Amino acid sequence: MPQSLNADLHCHSVVSDGTLTPEQLAARAHANGVQLWALTDHDEIGGQHRAAAAAHALGMDYLTGTEISVTFANTTVHIVGLGFDADDARLAQGLAATRGGRGERAREIARQLARAGIAGTYEGALCYVENPELISRTHFARYLVETGVCRDMGEVFRKYLTEGKPGYVPHRWAALGHAVRWIRDAGGVAVIAHPARYRFTANEEYALFSEFRQHGGQGVEVVTGSHTSAEYRTYAAMAQEFGLAASRGSDFHSPDESHTDIGTLPGLPAHLTPVWELLDHRILRAPQRPVAV
Ligand code: AMP
Ligand code: MN
Ligand code: MN
Ligand code: MN
Repeated sequence: MPQSLNADLHCHSVVSDGTLTPEQLAARAHANGVQLWALTDHDEIGGQHRAAAAAHALGMDYLTGTEISVTFANTTVHIVGLGFDADDARLAQGLAATRGGRGERAREIARQLARAGIAGTYEGALCYVENPELISRTHFARYLVETGVCRDMGEVFRKYLTEGKPGYVPHRWAALGHAVRWIRDAGGVAVIAHPARYRFTANEEYALFSEFRQHGGQGVEVVTGSHTSAEYRTYAAMAQEFGLAASRGSDFHSPDESHTDIGTLPGLPAHLTPVWELLDHRILRAPQRPVAV
């Protein structure tokens, strides 16, 4: 698989906080020229078989994926897993445990928003949820935009749902070492998602990268919809410094919300090892179509 491959290894469906089905995402990825695709729902792998089948029906290669919520240095960090066995029981148990606190957290978010004068948000958010185990802040944000409380999703997160604001509920997610181990033991590769998003100090970021490596993590997202082009360069250098492979993914959630469409990012810097090189044996290849004669 060449460096220049149009790979998109990060996006979300209705199985977590996206608005398209796995089949609609596959079609959109294919239409945008994606050659290797992974669906990476938050703390969930319930869409994996559908995504792989839809990719293969379109002649597109597929890597299994998920994005695990982790607590590191009192901050939520996301770890993408790629190329694991989607039927691995320990990974499924770990993800179920990680999802477990979301229902109670959502009720507490709603209680806080009610105290801030916005009633009915739990029921409101639930209208946007397709997977009852995966209620997220995104679903609250959609409801607050729909009801005119905020103009857009960005405003919701600026005014509510983030640290120091009403509707922010601190939550303990998986441990970094556990998330990496679940992915690795299931045959996959662990990747630090959108590292520029965490606003860590230099020391904290160094600790994240070195502990991630010690636990067996092997990749970092360099080209993502969450990074500026200056940040591509920063994390290309970090990938080299820590001997990590580089990943590329839009983090697409919705045609109405996401500014980066699936498969439209620039390629990885040429000197980096693409994460799909480590995963050659894990790619679920589309069946060859008969050649017309
Ligand atoms: P949760 O896993 O419930 O904490 O929700 C996290 C999700 O909220 C992320 O995966 C994003 O999809 C979304 N999110 C976080 N910050 C923002 C933001 N500033 N604007 C839009 N969506 C955001
Ligand atoms: Mn999300
Ligand atoms: Mn993320
Ligand atoms: Mn994501």
